[in-house]
Parts: sequence; C-alpha cells; structure tokens
Amino acid sequence: MPANILLVEDEPAIQELIAFNLEQAGHHVLRADTAEQGLSLVKNALPDLVLLDWMLPGVSGIDFTRRLRSDERTKTVPIIMLTARSEEPDKIAGLESGADDYITKPFSPRELVARIKAVLRRRAPQMTDDVVDVNGLRLDPTTHRVTAQGRPLDLGPTEFRLLHFFMTHSERVHSRSQLLDHVWGDHVFVEERTVDVHIRRLRSALEPSCHADLIQTVRGAGYRFSVQG
Ligand code: CA
Repeated sequence: MPANILLVEDEPAIQELIAFNLEQAGHHVLRADTAEQGLSLVKNALPDLVLLDWMLPGVSGIDFTRRLRSDERTKTVPIIMLTARSEEPDKIAGLESGADDYITKPFSPRELVARIKAVLRRRAPQMTDDVVDVNGLRLDPTTHRVTAQGRPLDLGPTEFRLLHFFMTHSERVHSRSQLLDHVWGDHVFVEERTVDVHIRRLRSALEPSCHADLIQTVRGAGYRFSVQG
C-alpha cells in the first residue's frame, strides 16, 4: 500500500535515511525541514500520513500537530511523531496534542515501516490492501479487481480509487473538496466539477448490477455511499 508521506525532519542525515527507507518500502515521500514548510506542502496536497519530528526549529512538532488537528480539512490526517529517548516525558503531551503514534529514536527502518502500516490500517482504511465487500460489490485493492455478484466490473483508475474510498468510508457525507483531497490528493488545481464527472462514470459502471443507488447525492453537501436507501 504505497502512501504519500510528508516527512518533517530538520536533521538532514536523519531525513535522508528515513526518506530512503520509506521509498524502499514503496511510499512516496515529500520532505520538509521545518513545520512552516510542512504546512505549505499540506496546503497544496493532503498527505496520507505525516511523519513528524518533535524538536524542530521555529514551530514545534506539537504546534504543527495542533494546527493540523484544528483545521477541518486536516484534522483526520494520521500523524506519527519522532522523539528522542530523552524526551520520554513529552510523549504523553505529543499524544494529547493529537498524534496517533510516536516512535523513539533510534528506531529500525523495519519498525518504522511496520508502525506506518499499522497507523494507516487504523486511520486510513482505504490505504490498506484489505478486500471490501458491500452487498455483493467486492473490491480487491491487491489485484485491482472489482466484481458485482461475482461478475467483473471495468472501472477506470479514478473510479476505482473513488469507489475504494467510498466503501471504506460509508454512511458519511463527503464534500467535493474532501473527495478531491482524499481521492485525487489535490484540492487546489482540480475543479470540483471533476468529481461529478467521475461520480457519473462510477454510477453508470454500477448500474447493470443495481449497485448505482449505493452512491447518493446529498443536496448542498456532497456524496454519500450508503446501504440505507
Ligand atoms: Ca530535530
């Protein structure tokens, strides 16, 4: 499950080492030396996960976390904090500020990759390889196959990601801007109308097996994937 990971770390050697290991594990890494830089990257595209050093020059890791948590758009982004052993007592404060997990330096690359996977599984189910099945509609992220009552459906890559996101976040209303963030990874340069185009395509692919009604339009708010009519 390749994820877009924002790495905020001011020490060049550690940044390099972490980025190398994450890329080896198949992730795409965006790097920032400071929290300010990290925030401006987040403004452009919402990452799947933030890996954040505690001790940063300027805005601290804790303040960065608080800022992400207080903004509607970024409040659910999974955050893992990197702390030095000497900062042990601060871990509690880190978790209280809204981080999902923390890792103590020095850590093994293997541990880091495993912790990322665990946090994504918990916080971003669309990032995992688990098969999802709703009312006979079955999506397998590993093989990239979708079947309806056992029959294969032909979906484009965007419709696939859209359906995967919906199936792992059902019964909730998602605005167009939220869908752009989570499915396209870009809410600045893609028009909201694009969402409607792909919703239409997805519905027509689901039409023959009578699954199109799972995708509901919520007037003035966005879209919802729901098994309740
Ligand atoms: Ca540091």
